[in-house]
Amino acid sequence: MKDFAKKLIDWHQQHGRKGLPWQGLKDPYKVWLSEIMLQQTQVATVIDRYQTFLVKFPNVQTLAQAPLDEVMALWAGLGYYTRARNLHACAKMILAQYAGQFPQLPEQLNQLPGIGQSTARAIAAFCFNHPASILDANVQRLIARTHGIQGSLKTRAENQKLWILADNLLPKDAQLMPTYTQALMDFGATVCKPTSPACQNKFSSSCIYLADCLAFKDQTVLQIPLKIKKVPSKIVVSEMLLMMDEENILLEKRPHSGIWGGLWTLPETPWVEIKSEKEVSQVEFKIDQFRHLISLANPAAYQQGRVLAPHKHVFTHRTLYFSTRIVKVSKTEVEWNDACHWIKLSELASIGLPTPVKKLLEDFQLLDRV
Ligand code: SF4
Repeated sequence: MKDFAKKLIDWHQQHGRKGLPWQGLKDPYKVWLSEIMLQQTQVATVIDRYQTFLVKFPNVQTLAQAPLDEVMALWAGLGYYTRARNLHACAKMILAQYAGQFPQLPEQLNQLPGIGQSTARAIAAFCFNHPASILDANVQRLIARTHGIQGSLKTRAENQKLWILADNLLPKDAQLMPTYTQALMDFGATVCKPTSPACQNKFSSSCIYLADCLAFKDQTVLQIPLKIKKVPSKIVVSEMLLMMDEENILLEKRPHSGIWGGLWTLPETPWVEIKSEKEVSQVEFKIDQFRHLISLANPAAYQQGRVLAPHKHVFTHRTLYFSTRIVKVSKTEVEWNDACHWIKLSELASIGLPTPVKKLLEDFQLLDRV
């Protein structure tokens, strides 16, 4: 497509997003952090969290040397916690293998934990003017529409086609790579949007690619990218135990893999799948379902516990309803395994808790104790 990059850069001078704290930076640490945070998270949410993270961990050295728990605590609420674990592992690797300096080539960056091909290219383009295109979901959509790619972008063949096209569209002058890369991101996010691209919106100004865009010519804009039918979300229920004395609360440290990996939760039963939301209140839990974590000297204390109404939490592929049972026992009446720990109430605010558990503990005013 003729003048693709030039049109985009010209558009960006006037209409690109301005004032985002990571824009125009050359520091690979800060660019990397913003790229990882922006994966699956809205810009508005990221802005504050990005700045808080940089205050606590201003460079790759401070991040690599911090305990993982501190990193997880700062990440809590952003979701997709593998990103935080990879961030920490990646910082350690940069310190150990690259003496604290980020490598400059996408092929090297792509070898580091949590840095995929598109992120590697974004860091290389922004920080080192490297001529390689990014291909995040926004850019995939833009290129697929302008070039009329109708198949599923998830297939290997279509994906490879997109990479080749994307690299052929680059500006000739490598100095323009940071601006061009930012323009690609901004255009996909603000003009060639998934459901209301500018060309389909009579109230919006028209698009710079109107004359060349194949999807626009063929009137297939909203059919590209091809949508794969979503599998309906499963519904699961569980129960959590709230056990505490004057100073401590019993929490479970989740294994690193799986949901809420590496975070602290209330001890929880395995999840039970149900067919519909009507069944949520029909599932009864027993103390035996906690035997992988704890046992009570007097199991009757469990039965006497007060059960709170279920909380709903929506994951990407599952909806969880968890009820909470308040069980009054002293430490000496509980046996717990290695996954569980008694945590001081005064430390609760500084450890990584999943959002729904954090909200629950806030409701009990347990998070502001010092
Ligand atoms: S004409 Fe429409 S579909 Fe094509 S690039 Fe512009 S906004 Fe996207």
